[in-house]
Amino acid sequence: MTAKSFNPPVRVLMGPGPSDVHPRVLSAMARPTIGHLDPAFVGMMDELKDLIRYTFQTENQLTIPVSAPGSSGMEACFVNLVEPGDSVIVCRNGVFGMRMTENVERCGGMPILIDDDWGKPVDLNKVEEALKANPGVKALAFVHAETSTGVRSDAAALCALAQEHGALSIVDTVTSLGGLPVEVDKWGADAVYSGTQKCISCPPGLSPVTFNERAAEAVKARKTKVQSWFLDMSLVMSYWGDGDSGARSYHHTAPINALYGLHEALVMVQEEGIENAWARHAKNHDAFRAGLEAMGVGLLVDKEYRLPSLNTVLVPDGVDEAAVRTTLLQRYNLEIGAGLGALAGKVWRIGMMGTSSTPHHVTHCLSALEGMLSEFQADITTGVATGAAEAVLFGD
Ligand SMILES: *Cc1c(COP(=O)(O)O)cnc(C)c1O
Repeated sequence: MTAKSFNPPVRVLMGPGPSDVHPRVLSAMARPTIGHLDPAFVGMMDELKDLIRYTFQTENQLTIPVSAPGSSGMEACFVNLVEPGDSVIVCRNGVFGMRMTENVERCGGMPILIDDDWGKPVDLNKVEEALKANPGVKALAFVHAETSTGVRSDAAALCALAQEHGALSIVDTVTSLGGLPVEVDKWGADAVYSGTQKCISCPPGLSPVTFNERAAEAVKARKTKVQSWFLDMSLVMSYWGDGDSGARSYHHTAPINALYGLHEALVMVQEEGIENAWARHAKNHDAFRAGLEAMGVGLLVDKEYRLPSLNTVLVPDGVDEAAVRTTLLQRYNLEIGAGLGALAGKVWRIGMMGTSSTPHHVTHCLSALEGMLSEFQADITTGVATGAAEAVLFGD
């Protein structure tokens, strides 16, 4: 077989991630590869750590991009903080809370589960009860923005509850970072991880992680070695630089060009201003919602818990949801996501993350969806959706 160069089709990415990547980020990644201990590269790393701190709204010293996708940031938090025998309260209201449970078990910890329905936020009362009933619990783990359901939980309140009861908080911000307020220091969150391919709009493969002093102390106080050599923060920091000495030593070869991409993506976040990025996501989401409502199509999640970055749209009666997704991809190169688990076949997951959160994405998706639903003879109102969205976007 003689293989040829792979040229992917140009898609519009409005699923649960990855999101559209800006040409500036792609071109940054094509710059010359240099040594991972080259002084020029080390200077870029320092700037990158500062950019990650800005995006997380934190001063935490221990802030780095882990060299693997969001799931590795999750794993980094659990393997460093959970020792065999530790109990950890895990909030499960979607797929990613289930994965956290797996992580606790694989660390030899004992998960204490708080279940909430898919489509609902984490129930603060249940968490408080569990913290009271389990004194000495090591950590409280939850997902800020559940990508499987489109739900936002109250991160500030959950971190405060953990702190009040002497537990560390472990927070998943993969689908919130850059798209809605993530304020690590204000929340008093202890260990927080994210990903690059959602609201940061950088290709997948890196995971920004930040630990505050309390979390760093907990890692130092461990009685056992971190079971993962690759994700052991105390080893990783010998490369990323944790002290004032500035000395760097080899741990693993950093994904150099991927880090150029993250640097450029975060320079773009800084240029826009993080608050402006949050406001942009909120406005485009609101416009999309207005368009759907005008059409007569519903959303799964109650208004106050909806994510601006991910819409779980109810599939109207009689519509073949998979055929809609396939046809949108074929006709318009438009990717939207399917429902997971109990929501499979019942919802679409339509992401508006980072570079994919623009007025163009909103109106393009609404009109394509309206065309498809009309073909399936769904009971919708036609001819009004984009106008309703434009009134939100451009009306005063
Ligand atoms: C996407 C996602 C992850 C996993 O990130 P990967 O980059 O796919 O490994 C974890 N948590 C949430 C909430 C996510 O949306």
